[in-house]
Amino acid sequence: MKDGNFLKEHNARSMWHPMAHPADSLKNPPTIVTGAQGVRITDVDGHEVVDGVGGLWNVNLGFSCQPIKDAITAQLDRLPYYSTFRGTTNDCVIELSEELRDFFAPDGLTRAFYTSGGSDSVETALRLARQYHKIRGEAGRVKFLSLKKGYHGTHIGGASVNGNANFRTQYEPLLPGCFQIPAPYTYRNPFNESDPERLAQLCLAALEDEIAFQGAGTIAAFIMEPVLGAGGVIPPHPSFMPGVRDICSRNGILLIADEVITAFGRTGSWTGSRHWGVQPDFSCTAKAITNGYFPFGAVMIAEQVAQVFEQDETGRAAIGHGYTYSGHPVGAAAALACLAETKRLDVPANAAARGAELFAGLQNLARTHDVIGDVRGGHGLMCALELVSDRDTKAPVDKGIINRVQEVAYQSGAMVRVSGPNIILSPPLVLTADDVQVILSSLDAGFAAV
Ligand code: PLP
Repeated sequence: MKDGNFLKEHNARSMWHPMAHPADSLKNPPTIVTGAQGVRITDVDGHEVVDGVGGLWNVNLGFSCQPIKDAITAQLDRLPYYSTFRGTTNDCVIELSEELRDFFAPDGLTRAFYTSGGSDSVETALRLARQYHKIRGEAGRVKFLSLKKGYHGTHIGGASVNGNANFRTQYEPLLPGCFQIPAPYTYRNPFNESDPERLAQLCLAALEDEIAFQGAGTIAAFIMEPVLGAGGVIPPHPSFMPGVRDICSRNGILLIADEVITAFGRTGSWTGSRHWGVQPDFSCTAKAITNGYFPFGAVMIAEQVAQVFEQDETGRAAIGHGYTYSGHPVGAAAALACLAETKRLDVPANAAARGAELFAGLQNLARTHDVIGDVRGGHGLMCALELVSDRDTKAPVDKGIINRVQEVAYQSGAMVRVSGPNIILSPPLVLTADDVQVILSSLDAGFAAV
């Protein structure tokens, strides 16, 4: 490994970082992570902290998951790559597809289409949704609906359904025919409604209204995260996703669950859709499918959608879509080992228990620190603190203050993530109760410093 000073000096001049101004890495150099063990990461200066971010919502099983490392190594030795494009496949991906079929059976999802990550998975689901309607002779169903504050990755399709201007404005014009309805975000919403259940009903009414306005026959799919993640961890009322499912079914609109964050245990259930008792038509997965050790994803497809494709006799169901790395055997091997470990450790149960402790601890912090305007969580290990400069007006906090909280928390023992006005927590799901306390005490120190 190169020496720390060399790395710091060369970072800014040789690479741009995602989601950052290119000049920013000169002014605010990133933390250079050089090692990790369990749920802890070590930086180039040798400072070790609990990773409250879990890589990027993906390292659910921590950094020392030996079975996944062994599976990757063994697969690299045996067959490092072979394509799944028409005419060939590899044995490992067949085995994985059977595993995923079992894993997602309670969600009614029985086929997999492989991708290289979350944005690819979203793009795949959007495309297949349009194709589904074309196969059935409803070629006019081309539009997409989604939620404000939703995050669906960075491809042009995903950006078009994103509900945050930061990821859209500089890349417009995006795909035409994409419309966002208000999110069930209790802390701030256009209805000024603070009761989660009533808000869910208002958002559902807004969805019905938008469908009537656009014309149901023009809409291909509605895409949503079961719990909004990057938009600031916004768990809807339990009536919301079932309500969306019902409205979609009544209007012939496909429901795409973007489970890039929520699949494989994050919410305390095996999947986010199952958490709310909903069966989607497509489920987009990535991230924790390989514990972040290999770039990989899968779109899971509902049995009834699969039947429409498979029974087509017009030729319209031929899939003109796919990635060189769709079904990569090393990714498949990593995912197989990851699924086995996720089940063996009953990871969702720990996510639920530690998540409840973390959420309660964050609520406690809000009692002492006025800068915390809202505490969100309560569904597994995904939580957010929204910071404000004034609790009455809910005016957003100064960027310098939130960055300072993060900096002091890091010095005190925990890596936390800043996203807009929010501090986001998405630690590995194998976190212990002691690790939760480290995150809480580090944040406490961070808040005490501002
Ligand atoms: N969808 C959701 C819900 C996500 O949270 C993300 C990434 O955070 C994506 C899609 C995009 O995934 P990726 O960054 O792997 O392309």
